[in-house]
Amino acid sequence: MLITEKFHSIQGEGTLTGLPMYFIRTNLCNLRCSWCDTTYSFKGGIEESVVDLIEECSSTWENWICLTGGEPLLQKDSYEFVKSLTEKGKKVLIETGGSLDIDKFVSVPGSLIDMDVKTPSSGEQKSLKKRNLLLLRNEDYIKFVIQDETDFIYAIRFLKENTIKCGVIIQPAWGKDPAWLVERVLREKLNVRVMLQLHKIIYGERRGV
Ligand code: SF4
Repeated sequence: MLITEKFHSIQGEGTLTGLPMYFIRTNLCNLRCSWCDTTYSFKGGIEESVVDLIEECSSTWENWICLTGGEPLLQKDSYEFVKSLTEKGKKVLIETGGSLDIDKFVSVPGSLIDMDVKTPSSGEQKSLKKRNLLLLRNEDYIKFVIQDETDFIYAIRFLKENTIKCGVIIQPAWGKDPAWLVERVLREKLNVRVMLQLHKIIYGERRGV
């Protein structure tokens, strides 16, 4: 697997926010979101054997491994990585941009999927593989990053037009006013979870945390 970085930290986004995890950030992404905060994963990287990575991750003290990117589903060994680690008793959170098939991954007990629904401000709004929505389990979640009113209206419409059985997270783009977003969610009576990026609140935009 082509790896950008590995580090111990707490999860900063989504329903598992605050939990300690060992992060495996893979290299390469097929998208180019305008507000991407991991552009350093677009090139470079170090090739590591999946067998070694599984051994390394299975011996960490954290219950959770976070497989992130870039786009981790681009790595041909991602499935083997997730399956083997869960069989060894680890839980694996997979953070994906939503443009690639998740079929194999939802069939793995012990995996959890954080899938982006890209909003207009990302410039990648058309990238979503819509059939993924039907595959997500109750415990998985989708995440909208909201930069402005246009993104917010898009998210409302998307939630109205699609049957969503997993969790829904609305996250302000980094640097945007979270109070505005909370007020909008309440005014629209949306039963979603508004979440901030805890790791950035703690560490700012530092890498590897
Ligand atoms: S999918 Fe993620 S890693 Fe890829 S460009 Fe978008 S924000 Fe960056």
